[in-house]
Amino acid sequence: MAIPWDEVGRAQVLEAMESVRQEILQRTVAAARASTAYCVVHPTTGWHFPPKYVLGRAVGLAHGGEDLGPQYFSGGEETNRGLRALGFTIDPCEYGGLYDDPANTAPSIPPTVGVTPVDATESGLKQAIAGAATTGQGPGLNAAGRKAVELLAMSAAAAHFRRAGWRVDASVHTHQPYDLRCTRPGRPELHVEVKGTTTSGARVLLTRNEVAHARATYPDVALFVLAGITLGPRPEYAASGGRATVLHPWRLDDAGLEALGFEYTLPAS
Ligand SMILES: [Zn+2]
Repeated sequence: MAIPWDEVGRAQVLEAMESVRQEILQRTVAAARASTAYCVVHPTTGWHFPPKYVLGRAVGLAHGGEDLGPQYFSGGEETNRGLRALGFTIDPCEYGGLYDDPANTAPSIPPTVGVTPVDATESGLKQAIAGAATTGQGPGLNAAGRKAVELLAMSAAAAHFRRAGWRVDASVHTHQPYDLRCTRPGRPELHVEVKGTTTSGARVLLTRNEVAHARATYPDVALFVLAGITLGPRPEYAASGGRATVLHPWRLDDAGLEALGFEYTLPAS
């Protein structure tokens, strides 16, 4: 069987990379699937992946089924050429694109929790602060873009805490100063603040209520940041990718907080 290139697009390859990234984080990929001479590079995170493994996954995603098994097509130049044609970079690399690849083990950026100008303009700042939801963040994002970023971050966060054994209720975020309520027999309830951003995620925006809640709930509170999210073109604004950082328990100290504005009461005349 040849590689069905007519069925595989850039979107499936990006989706396959995210799927494989989750496996790498959980160390569930067979070491035999590591590549020998080349890695395909994620365009925004710089992560390395074995080209043949990613392509087999992308074909599976295109069909809504199983990966195309390695016995059915050749890796090497045929795979690499097709991935390049879809705009991906193929780098010579001896580390295999899995756990031990230095491209995949660089420390993630620790978020110094503070307040960031999500937009350089004052109106952008006001919009971000006033917005009912600050979960989705990034410079110049409109409401649809923020929503797409928020949804991706929320689903990544829910998946993370489910894998860790928690029951996750995401419905609370509409009426509570946190985004996920996680429960588990014999453990105190855990509240999770979720932030998604198209930026590096070194800084995220918090509302006054979120700050107060995080302090009052410590240590049963966590912060989940999905940073470096890629946002597709309008009007779909498909959000993909991102790199997760989890602080659990999340201790919010004043050193990381910066006030964005003040409330001023005018003197009585
Ligand atoms: Zn590599």
